[in-house]
Amino acid sequence: MKDYIEELMAQVKAKNPAEPEFHQAVQEVVESLVLVLEKHPEYRHAKILERMIEPERVIMFRVPWLDDNGNVQINRGFRIEMNSAIGPYKGGLRFHPSVNLGILKFLAFEQVFKNSLTTLPMGGGKGGSDFDPKGKSDNEVMRFCQSFMTELYRHIGPNTDVPAGDIGVGAREIGYLFGQYKRLKNEFTGVLTGKGLNWGGSLIRPEATGYGSVYFAAEMLATRGETLEGKVCLVSGSGNVAQYTVEKLIELGAKVVTLSDSSGYIYDEEGIDREKLDFVMELKNVRRGRIREYAEKYKSAVYTEHDPSLDYNPLWNHKADCAFPSATQNEINGKDAQNLINNGVYLVSEGANMPTTLEGVNIFLENKILYGPGKAANAGGVAVSGLEMTQNSIRMSWSREEVDRHLQTIMKNIHKTCVETAERFGVPGNYVAGANIGGFLKVADAMMDQGVV
Ligand code: NDP
Repeated sequence: MKDYIEELMAQVKAKNPAEPEFHQAVQEVVESLVLVLEKHPEYRHAKILERMIEPERVIMFRVPWLDDNGNVQINRGFRIEMNSAIGPYKGGLRFHPSVNLGILKFLAFEQVFKNSLTTLPMGGGKGGSDFDPKGKSDNEVMRFCQSFMTELYRHIGPNTDVPAGDIGVGAREIGYLFGQYKRLKNEFTGVLTGKGLNWGGSLIRPEATGYGSVYFAAEMLATRGETLEGKVCLVSGSGNVAQYTVEKLIELGAKVVTLSDSSGYIYDEEGIDREKLDFVMELKNVRRGRIREYAEKYKSAVYTEHDPSLDYNPLWNHKADCAFPSATQNEINGKDAQNLINNGVYLVSEGANMPTTLEGVNIFLENKILYGPGKAANAGGVAVSGLEMTQNSIRMSWSREEVDRHLQTIMKNIHKTCVETAERFGVPGNYVAGANIGGFLKVADAMMDQGVV
């Protein structure tokens, strides 16, 4: 089995050069799947894993647009349609200058397992562009979104591929994208999720990823007879996921002491309360400012500028009980993971996708902390996207309470799947193996049923 994995990883690297994030995501999954492939040679025989690491389709396109000065700008657009064995492709769009093929392939690959864990019928996909919405006017963002959708619209549809938001794609961008799709297709359908409430969106969708990650953390703590009440929490990021993670943590009586953006982070030893969170939401969602301003307004907070010369992130070096990485991939390296453990952190719930390097993951597993990997812990976002698709199909809108109840049940079920699967395969308490194997089995069985396609 060791030879098989080494050979597979060598092939992945040779066939997908210069895509380190994709290699990392595959490596983590493959290591967990050894336990399954040993028990089920039929999956190996049918080359299920080899098929899963090859996207069903990759679309890459030019996105030309005019800036406010009348200059021509050109970005690159992508959509990775990774796997449709259990439902239409589903996954977010990311607009960020760091976006490239390898990053989107890692995200699409993870999405397949995550969507399977939600119990809803959704395949996996991901897309986006190297466009940077930061510093652009609303009109520039609109023109970019319209140009992006002018190509993407022919590849997606409510029964084919249903994109959503991710980094840099929030309510504003989804609105512009949806408007252009509707215009081109002359159809009002649920082709995107994260829509506005009065045109097909679902209540709780903006909150879902952050709330879900906290619900997942609460489930993990419950296995040790504990709750979030009074826990000191480190949260990174200050976007959609981070904001609603903090909101739910405050509601459950925890004390959040950090937030960040790509320029730096704030540490507020008195804790971020409701009023301070409202300030952050206005700062980030309306004024589109920097987190530094938090420390200018609240004297209990200290701002630390991002220092690229450091080989660790000081945000993860404070005394705390729980950590909720909610910014981006690989924001916790081996040193950060060790710092977290040394500072007393014994629960990590990943709101972001793959925020921890492989070295960091191994440190969490060796220390046997409660470690909820992103594909399980942040699945609440796509789960409520799935509920938005259901509401669109039946042309009904559910109440806030109803959607939240579904979300809580789904997060409980994902947690249960992880725990039970890890136990069944002889690695109790290992949520990484539980999530990877639990997500894999459903997709693998569907692929077996559907033949070699
Ligand atoms: P937002 O764009 O709303 O916020 C992203 C936050 O992370 C911002 O504070 C941003 O700072 C910071 N950030 C982004 N890139 C970097 C970087 N390279 N270094 C440091 N900080 C960075 O995105 P979301 O909150 O939606 O997404 C956050 C994470 O959660 C991502 O990993 C995403 O894939 C994941 N996720 C999101 C879901 C959703 O429903 N939105 C669902 C599941 C996972 P700045 O403003 O300076 O760029």
